[in-house]
Amino acid sequence: MAKKGETVINVALACTECGHRNYHTKRNKRNVREKLSLNKYCKWCHTHTTHKEV
Ligand SMILES: [Zn+2]
Repeated sequence: MAKKGETVINVALACTECGHRNYHTKRNKRNVREKLSLNKYCKWCHTHTTHKEV
């Protein structure tokens, strides 16, 4: 389904505490070179944790 020359990729964000992949988002490879790291709520940990791109 991805178009040729696609620069926006789908990524999963996993909790660094428990490893569950709680979020999915998109990242533009051209604009954002580094891996995403966001502070989000983890329903498994019942608190906000760092979620990293996997
Ligand atoms: Zn967690």
